Amino acid sequence: MIKIDNLVKNYGSNCAVDDISFEVKKGEIVGFLGPNGAGKSTTMNILTGYLSMTSGNVEVAGINMLDNPLEAKKHIGYLPEQPPLYADMTVEEYLIFNYELKNCKLNRDKHLEEICEVTKIKDVYKRVIKNLSKGYRQRVGIAQTLIGSPEVIIFDEPTVGLDPKQIIEVRNLIRTLGKEHTVILSTHILQEVQAVCDRIIIINKGKIVADELTENITRAVENNRRFSVKICGPQKEVLAFLKARPGVTYAEVLAGRDGDAYSYMVESEVGVDIRKSLFFALAEKKWALIGLEALGMSLEDIFISVVDKTSPKSRYERRTRSVARKNSAENEIADQLVSEQKGTAAAKPKNNEETATEKLASLFDDSENK
Ligand code: ADP
Ligand code: MG
Repeated sequence: MIKIDNLVKNYGSNCAVDDISFEVKKGEIVGFLGPNGAGKSTTMNILTGYLSMTSGNVEVAGINMLDNPLEAKKHIGYLPEQPPLYADMTVEEYLIFNYELKNCKLNRDKHLEEICEVTKIKDVYKRVIKNLSKGYRQRVGIAQTLIGSPEVIIFDEPTVGLDPKQIIEVRNLIRTLGKEHTVILSTHILQEVQAVCDRIIIINKGKIVADELTENITRAVENNRRFSVKICGPQKEVLAFLKARPGVTYAEVLAGRDGDAYSYMVESEVGVDIRKSLFFALAEKKWALIGLEALGMSLEDIFISVVDKTSPKSRYERRTRSVARKNSAENEIADQLVSEQKGTAAAKPKNNEETATEKLASLFDDSENK
């Protein structure tokens, strides 16, 4: 249904999409997963004919996008990252406007009614778009993609900015649409593709780094054996003790203190569950375990565990390096934050340096759950 070959997009000297190729078969729901700036929107915009490519080939339903863009576009419904809604129109006016724009030949009233049924926007049909909630607006955007019953529907980050209830509604809607259409969904949220898609294509820095069935990615994620534990006891001794536990491959101190308790990150060998034995061993030492929590995998961890075919040891070393980097950045910011709040003059950043709050914000900006 969709075939992309050796697609390249350069913005000046910046290569946003670097020679990617993939196919999507009829009826598939494929997730396009990658961190911000990976090249997802650029790819979606080229795929839907909104943006020109530097080189490569895009085919939709057997039609070449460059040779015959109008014909190719007829097979695609697209919800861009910023849905093109006209805020002053009513939902009805907006859908009729799109119906005419697409030169749709289906029976208008019946077709629009069916679309409103599926997207559950009947009760706001006569309302002005700017007065709708973000969740409803997104559904109106989705309704627009369905006009003309295209075989392929493409969603670019469809749940960004929605509240949890709206997110679930939109994901359910996409899953329903997947029964009748071929769907491509781009997102930076792993759980989103896991919840909705059959197959996941991971893109990073303009390159495809994995193309796997969702179950394989999920397995890689579940093999994650990294915990944050909080233990009452002398920090140095506890850390040495953790490092020496059978099955533990790595341990380090995390930031933060809670009375006489410190937090640690503990990583175990794949297939070894250290939690019970750790609990009893700590009890014997009279060091109370007062917190134990599985640490999620970042997209970077997933790239590494899915993509990296190198030895487990080098994989592990790369991963711990990345964790250590993040922790040290967080620790440094935490120290700065404390001093800033105390108002210590020495802690004030020099001119044009970021304050701790700004740094903290940018740290969160980089995380996969932005
Ligand atoms: P994503 O959707 O995965 O977040 P994008 O496709 O939006 O990523 O961006 C990929 C890269 O291309 C980024 O480095 C971004 O800064 C750059 N980029 C995107 N759009 C433009 C543009 N119009 N001009 C220049 N650079 C752009
Ligand atoms: Mg994007």
